[in-house]
Amino acid sequence: MRVCILGSGLSSLTLAKSLVNQKIYVDVLYSKKIYPVNKTRTIGISKSNIEFFNEKIINIEKIIYKLNKIEIYSDNLEKQKLVSFGNNSDYLFSIVKNHKLQEILQKNLFKNKYFKKTNYKANINYSKDYDLVFITDYNHPITKKYFNKKIEKKYNSVAYTTIIKHNKISNNIAVQIFTKNGPLAFLPISEYETSVVYSINNYLKGEIEINKLINNYNVKYNLKKINKIHSFELKGLSLRSYFHKNILAFGDLLHRIHPLAGQGFNMTIRDIKILNNLIQNKIDLGLPLDSKLNTEFEKNQKHKNYIFFSAIDLIHEFFNLERKTKNNFLSKSIQYFNKNSSINKTFIKIADKGLLF
Ligand SMILES: Cc1cc2nc3c(=O)[nH]c(=O)nc-3n(C[C@H](O)[C@H](O)[C@H](O)COP(=O)(O)OP(=O)(O)OC[C@H]3O[C@@H](n4cnc5c(N)ncnc54)[C@H](O)[C@@H]3O)c2cc1C
Repeated sequence: MRVCILGSGLSSLTLAKSLVNQKIYVDVLYSKKIYPVNKTRTIGISKSNIEFFNEKIINIEKIIYKLNKIEIYSDNLEKQKLVSFGNNSDYLFSIVKNHKLQEILQKNLFKNKYFKKTNYKANINYSKDYDLVFITDYNHPITKKYFNKKIEKKYNSVAYTTIIKHNKISNNIAVQIFTKNGPLAFLPISEYETSVVYSINNYLKGEIEINKLINNYNVKYNLKKINKIHSFELKGLSLRSYFHKNILAFGDLLHRIHPLAGQGFNMTIRDIKILNNLIQNKIDLGLPLDSKLNTEFEKNQKHKNYIFFSAIDLIHEFFNLERKTKNNFLSKSIQYFNKNSSINKTFIKIADKGLLF
């Protein structure tokens, strides 16, 4: 069995590793365009997804930093705690640097006999040369031809990311603040470093301003340095059709969500988990890998991913509305309901396992 993956980002490499582990030949094809390595990007991965990663993809224990608690605050409650999740006895999720995850995957894949990585070639017949094709590249002509119908959400926001360096501190609590400019997250990655993601509404631009805002909201860290700030325009999307014949869209090309809940890549890991099971069933039954797999994958995942996409959007709109109306009734209600431990546990389970539990 031979498949190909178009594009070579994080979703592509993670999927490739999962497939070679199932003894499937994988060709990763990519464009010659040079992407500068951004060392300020981090990803929060939920506990059950880390367990799946370690067991079925590659062991990443050495490069992750475990966090026990998330505390959420809101400007609308005058910086009072809105809710908190987790306790000190077990970890909730882990933070990893994007470039380290890419490096470990790439290094391992290059040693694998089932794996090949080459530039895009002309004259490939995707339906004849490969059993299945996965596409993760937004700029590929196939994306433009077959995967242009989507539900899109423009957030009119930019995400600013950086890493702050600070004095040594016990650093196992992630903090998210719903500020009047948008959500700001402090995500610890060591006792000395914390990743910052600030999604700011209405294009309030300029590094100095962002540094100042980070400083204003930082109450915990004795800052030594704020690294270079990178920015990304935020968009949400969900493809209307997941596949065309034997070609399946994957990763952020399939669904992209607001980073406020740190769930984008977690959704892709859950997709890989399902795909992994569907493929294993076919292998066990001696069935071919063909477009039927794409139909089954879409049937399994599309509704769950869409509910997730909508739920994240709802949270975003909810805090936007509160900010615009300068009313804290909604936050007060969350504070009240979250005191109920079973509601709190349900939120933790959804963030950990998606809609599977
Ligand atoms: C600010 C921010 C914070 C986030 N935080 C979290 C989080 O905490 N938890 C979580 O689960 N998700 C998070 N996400 C989402 C997560 O980053 C994406 O889901 C994930 O990076 C998508 O990977 P991808 O390969 O599908 O897409 P991309 O990385 O966009 O790649 C898609 C395609 O673009 C091209 N490409 C782009 N960059 C490169 C590159 N460097 N090298 C090679 N090719 C490239 C390639 O063709 C590639 O296949 C966050 C997103 C943002 C914007």
